[in-house]
Amino acid sequence: MKRRVFLILSVITMAVIAFSPVSQAAEVTGTAKADGFGGPDAITVTITVEDGKIKSVKAEGPKETEGIGSVAIQKLPAEMVEKNSINVDGMTGATFSSTGILKAAEAALKAAGVNPEDYKKSSDSAKAAEEKIFETDVAIIGAGGAGMVAAITAADAGKKVILIEKQAMVGGNSVRSTGGMNAAHTPEQDKNKFGENAGIEKTLKAAEKFSDNKFIADLAAKVKAQYEAWKADPKGYFDSVELMELDTIIGGHGINNP
Ligand SMILES: Cc1cc2nc3c(=O)[nH]c(=O)nc-3n(C[C@H](O)[C@H](O)[C@H](O)COP(=O)(O)OP(=O)(O)OC[C@H]3O[C@@H](n4cnc5c(N)ncnc54)[C@H](O)[C@@H]3O)c2cc1C
Repeated sequence: MKRRVFLILSVITMAVIAFSPVSQAAEVTGTAKADGFGGPDAITVTITVEDGKIKSVKAEGPKETEGIGSVAIQKLPAEMVEKNSINVDGMTGATFSSTGILKAAEAALKAAGVNPEDYKKSSDSAKAAEEKIFETDVAIIGAGGAGMVAAITAADAGKKVILIEKQAMVGGNSVRSTGGMNAAHTPEQDKNKFGENAGIEKTLKAAEKFSDNKFIADLAAKVKAQYEAWKADPKGYFDSVELMELDTIIGGHGINNP
């Protein structure tokens, strides 16, 4: 008899566990850290859950790159609240920060005494795309430096411009550029006295190491001819598009795709 009662109670308990709602009536809050682009434990996430709903998410990451990781810090928490899920898409271009936010969010739920698995229902990012038609004179794909300059140039010429960027932030590699922007044979250079002979000769010498690479050998021969012609009549600042190509490809140890 005793054994039978125990079995019945066990079944009831299991049923209660199996059918108990995910919802958590009381408000609970948890905070946790995870590694980010800014280093170990660079990201902190605080989550508040009430009645089975993610009520608020706050992410902090003062060391994440401004304009890249900081965009993920700003956007992902709002998406988690909106979708009531920590299973949101990371942001392209801010992978480290995104991964850190998602990991810290999971740990924060655990710290709040909540099962993170209950808040991982897949996000509906795959919902059908809406078709919209825009009319413009010029459409530019990619809002990095080149795209932005093209957009400004076209707008200055009185054209209507649409500039499209696939990432959540604009700027591309251009915002990561650490020094001056390289350019070849510009009018600005002609305002200066040329004194870079040693640099040209160094590049031509370095090109000799790649003599088995036809692209580099042909480019070097062209640059050499340009340089010799300039030396015979040294007017203005010596530079050329081919010299920049040669510098770039040698800078890439000859393995970059021309
Ligand atoms: C760390 C680092 C340091 C650098 N330092 C220097 C430096 O000191 N000096 C220098 O001259 N150069 C430097 N460079 C190189 C320089 O940044 C790049 O050569 C230059 O930014 C390229 O400009 P871009 O406009 O062609 O490309 P990007 O600035 O990369 O822009 C391309 C844009 O197009 C977008 N895009 C791509 N495909 C699509 C699509 N299908 N739809 C919509 N959008 C799309 C991309 O997301 C991106 O935003 C550096 C690069 C890096 C990464």
